[in-house]
Amino acid sequence: MPRPKINRKMVTPPKFKGFKPYGYYAEEQAPVSMLFEEYETIRLCDYELLSQSEVAQFMGVSRPTVTRIYESARRKVAIAFSEARSIVIEGGNVFFDSNWFHCKNCKSHFNNPENHKKLICPVCDSKSVLPVNHAQNNLTT
Ligand SMILES: [Zn+2]
Repeated sequence: MPRPKINRKMVTPPKFKGFKPYGYYAEEQAPVSMLFEEYETIRLCDYELLSQSEVAQFMGVSRPTVTRIYESARRKVAIAFSEARSIVIEGGNVFFDSNWFHCKNCKSHFNNPENHKKLICPVCDSKSVLPVNHAQNNLTT
């Protein structure tokens, strides 16, 4: 029986659902599905320029695990670029630094709302707010 995957810590959920190539008019191909933790390793390694050891410490997993997730993430980016496929970021085993919420009205993400009982978006004052894990279920729409 495979060992259960340890949840990986993420600072923030991505501000988007995915990427789409443009200027390409051939038949639409199936998107490449990228996990949240794969997105996070690319962000931490290639944008924040952390070493894989630092990323491992940050995400609460071993360095070989980071290497494996990162290689998978880069492979998916390469496939998407080479085959002109879109990337959808969804799923994975992650938890966030704190509870994050998604505003359905202005599409922003926020955490630490001032009042947990009456959730209101701090950007647009909308009450149409969902916890991020719930919002992620609607990503395919
Ligand atoms: Zn809002």
